[in-house]
Amino acid sequence: MSVRSKSRSAPTGPSPFAVEAEALPAEKFADPDITAAGEPRASVPLTGLDTLWLNTGTLCNLACVTCYIESSPTNDALVYLSAEDAARFYAEAEGMGTREIGFTGGEPFMNPAFLPMLTDALARGFEALVLTNAMKPMRRHEEKLLLLRERFGDALTLRVSLDHHTRTGHEGERGPRTWDVAIDGLRWLSDNGFAIAVAGRLLPGEGMVEARERYAALFARETIAIDAYDPAQLVLFPEMDATKDVAEITTACWDILGKSPADIMCASSRMVVHRKGEDRPRVAACTLIPHDPEFDLGETLEEAAQAVKLNHPHCARFCVLGGASCSA
Ligand code: SF4
Ligand code: SF4
Repeated sequence: MSVRSKSRSAPTGPSPFAVEAEALPAEKFADPDITAAGEPRASVPLTGLDTLWLNTGTLCNLACVTCYIESSPTNDALVYLSAEDAARFYAEAEGMGTREIGFTGGEPFMNPAFLPMLTDALARGFEALVLTNAMKPMRRHEEKLLLLRERFGDALTLRVSLDHHTRTGHEGERGPRTWDVAIDGLRWLSDNGFAIAVAGRLLPGEGMVEARERYAALFARETIAIDAYDPAQLVLFPEMDATKDVAEITTACWDILGKSPADIMCASSRMVVHRKGEDRPRVAACTLIPHDPEFDLGETLEEAAQAVKLNHPHCARFCVLGGASCSA
């Protein structure tokens, strides 16, 4: 049995969201400066630290098939971040004009220090965005969450992962008996007036317009106050698979695609991670690549304010070609 299959609701089959592509050739994403075709690789300078993400730890109550960070009830490759370490990064971010603190995991509500570190962020005047599956770990904190909503209003947003607008799609990825619980948690947040958003996905071949229509019907049916046509309230992410072939991003790509490096997530955000075995938390380029040493930018936000070379398949598939942003 693999370490990740130990969830009580672990999915049993392949993900319905699996990327359909050939295997990634070994010569791609090998040199940080030059692509396999010998062209200069694109990089992204930090224009300002708008969002500081904290990874609260990889432990999760679920073990979703394609969880990019391989979270599960037993994976603590990223250990729980402490409230003291979070505070140190808040203090540094305050001097950098940071607007928002994002919290991701694993499931943030499993970290025993999560409520104190969330409260600290809001009390310092940051906006807070919490990514959660809205299941039991979150529901254990209902009373404290209601107090935070009273005190900070819409400065606190919770973004719930609802992988698909159908039970079959959602449970195919997340495991049996995960749909009703997630819908119930989302409805509780909605009924209690929290600022909420949903993160969803598209099945292979499913169109964006069709997906938004279906989510809109679901939200209406379940009385969940989310406008499915607002891309900030329903974020539909492209798929990631670091083992599948994808084009490398060269400096010429910006003009070809009509995009700017400033639009890419690592132009305006960083993520703090505390890797198991390391004494202190460190700063990674973004939320998507927590372990790769090439994307470890240092121990402080100041050290991490350097340009990021787009030398990973996620840079291409998710960020530049897929065009999604991880911020609300
Ligand atoms: S709920 Fe999120 S963090 Fe947990 S296993 Fe699923 S995708 Fe990963
Ligand atoms: S995957 Fe991370 S490092 Fe690569 S382009 Fe996206 S945000 Fe930047």
